[in-house]
Amino acid sequence: MNGHETYETLAAVYAVGALDGGDLAQLEAHLAEGCDRCTVALREAREVLAGLALADTPAVPRPTSRPACSRGSGPRAARARARPAPAG
Ligand SMILES: [Zn+2]
Repeated sequence: MNGHETYETLAAVYAVGALDGGDLAQLEAHLAEGCDRCTVALREAREVLAGLALADTPAVPRPTSRPACSRGSGPRAARARARPAPAG
């Protein structure tokens, strides 16, 4: 484990501010080593988030909360929200 792919995954979590504990320490140590690949991965993850933040500007708050989505805040949740949900 602990290849670049692992760090790239951690970088995506880090970008949303959800990384902590040993994973956070590992990723920050790896970035501190000057890994270009993972530094770029983190920057790209942040750019994607910035784009989502700009696109996700609901004019009206939802009157009802949906339990299945209440904790969804990642790119997948945002994409799911952007698509018309099937009835039901
Ligand atoms: Zn790396």
